[in-house]
Amino acid sequence: MNDNVKHRNINAPELQLEKKAMTLDKTISEIERVPVGEQVARQLLALVQNGSLEPGQKLPPERELSTMLKVSRPSLREALRALSLLGVLNIRQGGGVYVSALDPESLLAPLHFFVSLNDKNLDDLFEARLVIEAENARIAAEKISDEDIARLKKCVDFEAHELNDQDKFIQSDVEFHNIINQSVDNAFLNRFATSLHILGKASREITGHIPGVIEQSLKDHEAIVAAIDARDGEAAAKAMKTHLVNVREALKRGQLQS
Ligand SMILES: [Zn+2]
Repeated sequence: MNDNVKHRNINAPELQLEKKAMTLDKTISEIERVPVGEQVARQLLALVQNGSLEPGQKLPPERELSTMLKVSRPSLREALRALSLLGVLNIRQGGGVYVSALDPESLLAPLHFFVSLNDKNLDDLFEARLVIEAENARIAAEKISDEDIARLKKCVDFEAHELNDQDKFIQSDVEFHNIINQSVDNAFLNRFATSLHILGKASREITGHIPGVIEQSLKDHEAIVAAIDARDGEAAAKAMKTHLVNVREALKRGQLQS
């Protein structure tokens, strides 16, 4: 036995294999615990990953899909909703579910995070957003086009009228941040921003429903637009930071209550 131990070093191939087997066991037991909706979501994701469903492709009708995947329609709907939150699918108004045009790799990356969306990684997400989005706002103040400033103003107007509709507000909030992040014409920052955008959709499902968040966010957005419109990078970064700290604080209050 001692001999055996002596020959084993951390890089020994058999040990690596054992490690893999352990990870696999863990993954299988995790899958067994996941709800049906999420299992369906994983099946659909696998179809996107292996290319059976291509970016931009329209999904078969719900009835056909539920037969294909052998699940009830409510479970299927739950899965479609989860995947649309993640940005994997687009559910278009007036019918039709489409695979998002994003590449499968960046679509799949946030899945693990989404599955284990808890207090700790939600806080991590805000920390990352603080770092990246504040700087993006600073750069946006210099680079953003006048058309995109007009789009930002439109978002804020829309939000002012939709204070009582949380879902519409969340949609607009996602768009607002996306316009700023995408205006930063930098391949790496754009990629970070896309990940944050997808994850942000999931986190807003939680934060958007905490009392007071919407009203404060509207005020924050107004301050951000004013700074960007004045082409004041320093003020834009500061306003974005304040906004994200406000949402984060509200989130902590919400967690304490629940
Ligand atoms: Zn916001």
